[in-house]
Amino acid sequence: MRDITQSYQAESELRQANEYLQKQVLEIKTLQVQLREQAMRDGLTGLFNRRYFDEIFPKELIRATRDYERVALIIMDIDYFKNINDTFGHQAGDRVIQVFADLLRNYSDCQNIVCRYGGEEFVLVLPGLIQEKAYQHAEQIRLSFKAAQLEYGGKQIHTTVSGGVAVFPDHGKTTDELLQVVDRALYAAKLHGRNCIKRV
Ligand code: GH3
Ligand code: MG
Ligand code: MG
Repeated sequence: MRDITQSYQAESELRQANEYLQKQVLEIKTLQVQLREQAMRDGLTGLFNRRYFDEIFPKELIRATRDYERVALIIMDIDYFKNINDTFGHQAGDRVIQVFADLLRNYSDCQNIVCRYGGEEFVLVLPGLIQEKAYQHAEQIRLSFKAAQLEYGGKQIHTTVSGGVAVFPDHGKTTDELLQVVDRALYAAKLHGRNCIKRV
């Protein structure tokens, strides 16, 4: 009788230990997923970060080559953003970045990849789009942002955005080439007086 009782006890303890371990493995897996997610996201906006862009964009180009598809790349940079920080404070600047990020999110579908590339600079990856369509997309975003009623601490903030558009494979075959040409287009938009989108 005692043998059987002991054996039952041991079995029950073993089961409990097993359940505990299974729970821990599940928790670790959940944490791993959260960590991976955090590593690819930008803390302020929740958009993908530059690390994610650098990882995913070359893969996207390989996929597009295989599928004989185009990939549009848009870069957008908030105009005179330093002035916003200087006039309204850094927190107001942060808020403007968040508002712009929300707008980008609203304009994107599940195929688009939207990343905060740096401070007030954003990149959008639009698979399958020709340059004209990508330009129109960027124009819509530009106009919406210009029209946005931004208020901080009871004061109105007026701000605009400039952008550049390029398309794979038409304007470049590699990530570096495309970033270079799209950056040049953005620079042209800034030179042109800002609050505009320039194509390559
Ligand atoms: P341009 O029209 O030529 O783009 O001028 P700009 O003032 O927008 O560009 P500039 O590169 O001179 O300034 C960007 C500023 O953005 C400088 C930096 O302090 C600020 N910045 C970068 N990251 C953040 C952030 O996360 N929050 C806030 N509030 N400011 C940031
Ligand atoms: Mg700027
Ligand atoms: Mg900038």
